[in-house]
Amino acid sequence: MLATFCRRAEPHLSRPSLSRAAFSILTNRFHHSHNFSTTTTQSQTPSPSPATTSSAAAKMEAIGVLMMCPMNNYLEQELDKRFKLFRYWTQPKQSEFLAQQADSIRAVVGNATAGANADLIDALPKLEIVSCFSVGLDKVDLNKCKEKGVRVTNTPDVLTDDVADLAIGLMLAVLRRICECDKYVRRGDWKLGDFKLTTKFSGKRVGIIGLGRIGLAIAERAEAFDCPISYFSRSKKGNTNYTYFSSVVELASNSDILVVACALTPETKHIVNREVIDALGPKGILINIGRGPHVDEAELVSALVEGRLGGAGLDVFEREPEVPEQLFGLENVVLLPHVGSGTVETRIAMADLVLGNLEAHFSSKPLLTPVV
Ligand code: NAP
Repeated sequence: MLATFCRRAEPHLSRPSLSRAAFSILTNRFHHSHNFSTTTTQSQTPSPSPATTSSAAAKMEAIGVLMMCPMNNYLEQELDKRFKLFRYWTQPKQSEFLAQQADSIRAVVGNATAGANADLIDALPKLEIVSCFSVGLDKVDLNKCKEKGVRVTNTPDVLTDDVADLAIGLMLAVLRRICECDKYVRRGDWKLGDFKLTTKFSGKRVGIIGLGRIGLAIAERAEAFDCPISYFSRSKKGNTNYTYFSSVVELASNSDILVVACALTPETKHIVNREVIDALGPKGILINIGRGPHVDEAELVSALVEGRLGGAGLDVFEREPEVPEQLFGLENVVLLPHVGSGTVETRIAMADLVLGNLEAHFSSKPLLTPVV
């Protein structure tokens, strides 16, 4: 029954071409909407004939898909197999290339580094869909897409666990100086004496900017460490008992650890500014697993260098891959190269969502994770 449903509802997505995670998204939706048990009977619905399947595949292969930058080998190989793939980063003259291929590119695949800005969208009159290999859509001009009728998809949910896990990892790493301890052992310093005492994590007050999917997953994990949780977002959430603050400064004043987990928009750029940093104070810790521009980086660097902030765990930066060198010598800072969703399992699930959304769109089926 389940196999039948998947073939009927998403015939473009055969089980063998899906990762376990993407398949489970479909099956969860199926069970949620149909309330069936997993004990199933033999399908009565005939499968599409091999001739139908191969002509559909041949049509897909003619569709031009523009990948903006290298993001994942599996995704790149699958796009290459299923579509006519153009690799934007390999084009020496990108505007000439766009002019030449304007009539054949019908889809763009972007990520957190390179998406689809207004110029790109305007240069591609046949563009129908932007399928993002990320949940954040700050590199896509959503208004332009709406105006031009271009569909947009992202990769929500499948990466939530990884990003939330990493946020907790950063909290522990900063407070317990895990990276410094590791260096201490490797340098042989342990033989000279014990490592200094660090700071306890359990029970610290955790404040979260943006209680969305990732923010909530961080809250749930931090609760297991007996941390009282509070948050700021544009509106108070009815589905939690966490303490709500209607301003980021107020949230920071009442937190030991402040976590940035909101979407990057013009309103949230530099949502962590000098006033917020000062409210967090010399014992406070900032964790950023959102986007670099959420934080006024110059203010953050000076607060850390001057000791006005207790520490920071940063996965993202304002001008990636550039990281302010003043941070390199600070032991109360942990620096990561934007790896929030960077596990093998999650990147495959994200890639399957990108592929599934493209195949759904070009087979006139409902998108798996539509945004626009
Ligand atoms: P989500 O479920 O859409 O949550 C986004 C949150 O942002 C919502 O709770 C929303 O709250 C809040 N928000 C939006 N505008 C706001 C504003 N002006 N002021 C305050 N809060 C605002 O998205 P998600 O799946 O949790 O992902 C969140 C972000 O994490 C992504 O956008 C992405 O940038 C980042 N991310 C980073 C990595 C990484 O590798 N480090 C990986 C994945 C995602 P309200 O609507 O209630 O205001």
